[in-house]
Amino acid sequence: MASKLRTLFALTLALVATVDADDSGAQSRRRRRSDDARADSDRLRRRSRYDRTREPTMRRGRPITIALETEPVHFDPAPAPTTSARPYDHVIVVSIDGLRPDAVMMTDAPNLRRLRQIGAWSTEARTITRSYTLPSHTSMLTGVDADRHGLVHNNFTPRYGFTRAATALYHAHDAGFTTAMFVSKPKFRHIAIPGSVDVFARPDYACRRVVDAAAQHIRQTREGLTFVHLSEPDGAGHERGWMTASYMRAIAAADRCMGTLLQTIEARVDRDRVLLVISADHGGHGRTHGSTREEDMRIPWIAWGSRVVVGDFADAVSTMDTAATALAALGLEVPQDMVGRPVQRALTRAVAAPQVSGADAGSRRNSEARRDGR
Ligand SMILES: [Zn+2]
Repeated sequence: MASKLRTLFALTLALVATVDADDSGAQSRRRRRSDDARADSDRLRRRSRYDRTREPTMRRGRPITIALETEPVHFDPAPAPTTSARPYDHVIVVSIDGLRPDAVMMTDAPNLRRLRQIGAWSTEARTITRSYTLPSHTSMLTGVDADRHGLVHNNFTPRYGFTRAATALYHAHDAGFTTAMFVSKPKFRHIAIPGSVDVFARPDYACRRVVDAAAQHIRQTREGLTFVHLSEPDGAGHERGWMTASYMRAIAAADRCMGTLLQTIEARVDRDRVLLVISADHGGHGRTHGSTREEDMRIPWIAWGSRVVVGDFADAVSTMDTAATALAALGLEVPQDMVGRPVQRALTRAVAAPQVSGADAGSRRNSEARRDGR
């Protein structure tokens, strides 16, 4: 006790001495060094706290706009739906970590912008109030809030086990679909209930390798539910701030990775049997997220597929609806205890009446003409 007091006294003296001393060059250098050290330790503390329930900082990124420079990959509107009773055979859910919907239209994201034109874009999509990566992704894939799925932590902690609520992947796997997760963070293991996922891969943090692995799987898998997770925007947001130039460049990188997935889907002969849903786990502000602020809770939600009713829509979509939509899209029953409900706009574009001529039925030109733009 006495030694602790002595140390405290010595520290206080040192502090007073620093404040009182003349501002000689050596001292100001020392002070700069200690300021740097303090900044570093703040950064470290911020990082470790981020994985729990970090207070939002008030520091705000300066919103910036980056002009389009990247060429969009070539992909067309989805062809007309076939008459099969099951809406789709393969559902691909892509989550772009930390992607704010308002940033998509301010930056170099030609593929996401094109998807907005030829898909359904919800202007009112939100994540759960615990807007952290793991709780939120678990809600996206289980269709229930964190109080039900139980994953309220945000880092890979094996002793916490798996989600307590079944995932859409679990139900789809039960029904005989091939299920897969291609992710860029190890903590997604908590969502991959043993026996529910045929392929779990974490090829890299960088989206390039994640989508390459996912693309290979999508090429080979006719009937399935595939989840893909891209990290870049979240990483840049924590490093430099949401809406900063660095954040916008990270979105451009994720958009190029999206291009790989789009080309892969486009190349499938049964392209009309694939539904693509693109969303995010949370937005962000300053260098953080996790609060109930609009910037944190608002997420993009885009659906692209042959039965998608094209156009922006303002119905409130919850991230929990993604799980339900995936199940309904595969013709599976949505469990009653799931809070999320299917987004009908992804599933209900009418099947065209049989064509008399038959020659060009189902051609892309026809599908464009029939497209319901409301
Ligand atoms: Zn996240």
